[in-house]
Amino acid sequence: MSLQRTNAMTVDVEDYFHVSAFEKIIQPSDWSSCKPTVDYNTKRLLDLFAQKEIKATFFILGWVAEAFPQLIKDIAEQGHEIASHGMNHRRAATQTREQLSDDIKKSIDVLEQASGEKVLGYRAPSFSIGKENEWAFELLAELGLVYSSSTYPIAHDLYGTPEWPRFIHNRPEGIIEIPIPTLRSDNKNLGIGGGGYFRLYPYFLSKKRIQKFLKNESQPYSFYFHPWEIDPNQPRVSGASLKSKIRHYINLSRMEGKIDSLLTDFNWSTVQDVYLSDNKIKPSLLTQSSS
Ligand SMILES: [Zn+2]
Repeated sequence: MSLQRTNAMTVDVEDYFHVSAFEKIIQPSDWSSCKPTVDYNTKRLLDLFAQKEIKATFFILGWVAEAFPQLIKDIAEQGHEIASHGMNHRRAATQTREQLSDDIKKSIDVLEQASGEKVLGYRAPSFSIGKENEWAFELLAELGLVYSSSTYPIAHDLYGTPEWPRFIHNRPEGIIEIPIPTLRSDNKNLGIGGGGYFRLYPYFLSKKRIQKFLKNESQPYSFYFHPWEIDPNQPRVSGASLKSKIRHYINLSRMEGKIDSLLTDFNWSTVQDVYLSDNKIKPSLLTQSSS
């Protein structure tokens, strides 16, 4: 029965030149001269979701909403949830309180204007809310947001808070946090949330891991990926480290087929639909939480 559970499908809407892996070689001032692919690829995703009759949550960069307001309108009109991924993909951890507040507020304004929808959710770029900037949760509450999905309880070289809760919880600052899902293995948390890991591993293995999560935990699963991940023909960025290049380019040509299978093999909906009722955590998820 647990395998029939509805899970949250999320897309972090940003272009290949916004990603943290390339932040040292492409500055925000260079973005306008990069060939954008986010509009085209997000539309392909919208078609795929429509075909499978799936609604998703789109965590969108304010930069994308400014460049492609019609795209945001289309996403909202097709019944998907509009949420914020910040304005300029600067990691929350590298910004001062004032900078981060401006960044998120601006993104909410531009997304609400383009979509006509109220923004309730935020995902920090590269899951960059951790112990050193827990104050970021206070900001999110101040800005009127309801939930965040900005923490990844794993050990990773770029992000991660392995000792933080694995499941949805109320933060003392008045924000609901929905961590990226993990699998317990050898006393460690294994990242199974999507993106790079999903591209790296063969689909049958990812599927098995998600099934294991659903069997072991009385929680919904949530998945994230990016529009550029289904585009093997995206312009190549030169000057990045080998590690960054491998992370960004590995198995791009297989991703669309994998996503297609994933959409078919599990049930999906928006974050709001899966986790919240009346802007609060669904009681069934709180009482069964075992983190
Ligand atoms: Zn991102």
